[in-house]
Amino acid sequence: MLLTAKTSRDIDPIFWDVVLDCKGKCVYCGLDGSDDIRILRNFCIDHLIPRQANGAHAKENRVLSCSYCNRDCKGNYDPRIDAPKSAGENVLLAQAKKYVHKRQPSPFFDDLYDALQRR
Ligand SMILES: [Zn+2]
Repeated sequence: MLLTAKTSRDIDPIFWDVVLDCKGKCVYCGLDGSDDIRILRNFCIDHLIPRQANGAHAKENRVLSCSYCNRDCKGNYDPRIDAPKSAGENVLLAQAKKYVHKRQPSPFFDDLYDALQRR
């Protein structure tokens, strides 16, 4: 039987490489998609230094992110703004994690989780 890709992600070698480099986990929150395709398929490639800020599409600038951390928290945040000038990739990633973690609490979702717990 011939296997056919369902989406462009299925055949995107860059996505494949980023998933392997990041061990299938969101670099920001640690959500693990390594053994659950339903989680993994919703992950995104994040550019640590955003493309909008002239971040390269190079391997060193790409990390795996869950869609929540990527879209709702990190967005186009450029970690160089809050990092020392000569900061390397690890320092920039740590700075981006700090930024994402600060943006994660949400009164809306806290209330929603409370409502779910009561069911
Ligand atoms: Zn995440």
